[in-house]
Amino acid sequence: PNDFAESAPPAPGTPRTGPARRLTVLSGPSGVGKSTVVREIRAHHPEVWLSVSATTRAPRPGETDGVEYHFTDDAGFDRMVAEGELLEWAEFAGNRYGTPRRPVEERLRRGEPVLLEIDLQGARQVRATMPEALQVFLAPPTWEELVRRLTGRGTEPPEVIQRRLDAARVELAAEKEFDVTLVNTSVSEVRDELLALILEPQV
Ligand code: 5GP
Repeated sequence: PNDFAESAPPAPGTPRTGPARRLTVLSGPSGVGKSTVVREIRAHHPEVWLSVSATTRAPRPGETDGVEYHFTDDAGFDRMVAEGELLEWAEFAGNRYGTPRRPVEERLRRGEPVLLEIDLQGARQVRATMPEALQVFLAPPTWEELVRRLTGRGTEPPEVIQRRLDAARVELAAEKEFDVTLVNTSVSEVRDELLALILEPQV
């Protein structure tokens, strides 16, 4: 399953010194701003394909089924797991999230850059099954800033915020597992740094 990078042709116009690194994983604690960065890339860089995860979480205001997530119920998620349709999946703060396998594998086969925005448990699964993926960690400027962002979002009740803060401590402690850390001081800077990593030729 790890031979996509070798078998795919180079993207047109890309200077190459070796096979492109086509699969990038973006991870980091909840509230750090991963989905804002991803939204920026979706809006301005259609050449990067963003995997749309399945989740049992309810949509937040403004989220559209099939865009941010494929929203599903427990039975639907169980079925995807049973049929082996997910590349990885994890339970996070009381809901399940997973990456549909087929669309990712198709893009990688065609040599298109793919970005997964997933939690730490998912990043670890991808590291085990697709070790050639570039693993990027998005870190908050400070712990206080992360607390401020998670609390200020106003989309979750206090007990959910607490669960996410507990998870964030665990996720922050895992930063060293990643190939690169980007600090989210400015969305546009992180977006550009991430794009450069996604599109950079591999040596
Ligand atoms: P949220 O509910 O805030 O959209 O996402 C919660 C967490 O789940 C985030 O850390 C997000 O990156 C992660 N997540 C989203 N999709 C997936 C997925 O397909 N797999 C895994 N393992 N985590 C995901």
